[in-house]
Amino acid sequence: MASRMAHKVMQARKGTPEGSGLLVIDNPNEMITVAGNNRKPRRGESLQDIGIMKEAALVIKNGIISEVGPRKEVLASVDTDNAIIIDAAGKTVMPGFVDPHTHLVFAGSRENELRWKIEGASYIDIASKGGGILSTVNATREASSDELLALASNRLDIMMRHGTTSIEVKSGYGLNVEAEMMILEVARALSEEHKADVSTTFLGAHAIPPEFKDHPEGYVDQVIDRMIPRVADEELADFCDVFCEEGFFDVEQSRAILEEGKTYGLVPKLHADELSDVGGANLAAEVGAISADHLEKSSDGGIGQMAEANVVGVLLPGTSFSTNIGYADARRMIDLGLPVALATDFNPNCWTKSMQFMISLACYKMRMFPAEAVVASTINAAHATGRARDVGSLETGKQGDIIILDIENHEQIPYRFASNHVDMVIKRGEIVHTRV
Ligand SMILES: [Zn+2]
Repeated sequence: MASRMAHKVMQARKGTPEGSGLLVIDNPNEMITVAGNNRKPRRGESLQDIGIMKEAALVIKNGIISEVGPRKEVLASVDTDNAIIIDAAGKTVMPGFVDPHTHLVFAGSRENELRWKIEGASYIDIASKGGGILSTVNATREASSDELLALASNRLDIMMRHGTTSIEVKSGYGLNVEAEMMILEVARALSEEHKADVSTTFLGAHAIPPEFKDHPEGYVDQVIDRMIPRVADEELADFCDVFCEEGFFDVEQSRAILEEGKTYGLVPKLHADELSDVGGANLAAEVGAISADHLEKSSDGGIGQMAEANVVGVLLPGTSFSTNIGYADARRMIDLGLPVALATDFNPNCWTKSMQFMISLACYKMRMFPAEAVVASTINAAHATGRARDVGSLETGKQGDIIILDIENHEQIPYRFASNHVDMVIKRGEIVHTRV
């Protein structure tokens, strides 16, 4: 399918550096490196250590960061006649954002539900009016893979213009074998053709489809017996995720699905404790998930177990903003030693493509410090998608994934909220977006 779709995507192949392959970013007001001990996700005090350098420069050679340090030394070591030099004076330079939780591939749009939300309708009320996840499932099942790819690619272009250079994409709006496979094939095609790095997650257990309304166990069996083997066989996903929640998949069902995924090499993730504390955080720790996401209602005990098991807590303040479910208490989680990350949760119920806005919400609504929110949306988000060796910080040997922001310092990201501060996006050493 990828080759059939290739012409649809207006992006060049990955890993093709521009010009001589030498790019220098010179003299930003703040060079935020997030450098340091990044072998494990950051927690506690180290969440505030973002490695700010002043009077610094950075060199990318053939897509990889080859030097970062004091500008005099760096410039003296580079053949500047053969380099593209970007003057970043007065600006902020930092790693491209990693968005570790999105539902990018779906059809349709649900702005009609906003009025119902304003009138006080609950998640369940909206579903009973024909809205919610299942209305998106219907629209997605009716779409072709070409249509889905075009929609997803366009969304990812916009995310990139907001500074996101790596992303995780889940299935979950198909809810039958064919449609779930199609969504993951689209996500894989996107991964091959788009300049952003795309990780894929199988979320067949997102909701019980209408066909199985009266016997949900039958659907769990289908996920386990038919979907997981095909996902693994066709190498369509890196991770396996479950929406563990009352009325969706309980802890036993979630455990069974995630354990089966593990036997096929799919690393567990979890939608945990969004609407109620069902023990999702505890389950994430038990199965050794790479991340557990949401956590709005998790208990201290569950958070403590996650911290001990080194599970990244991916917090989704956009969902709290758009659904009035209350915000996760990030301050408490950080105090309990949890490594936290941030993500947009882009989906029809939370239509935002801006990690910058997530940083604002994290600071204003979840009591995170600006530096913590920077770490949570770069290196810790990279850990949540298994990509921390390649992206998430500005250190030699890592991909040249860098954004230049038209602000003086990182504290202005949350402070000057609901604006796009991105001036330039560089992916693997190539300038992929410049603000005109
Ligand atoms: Zn989600």
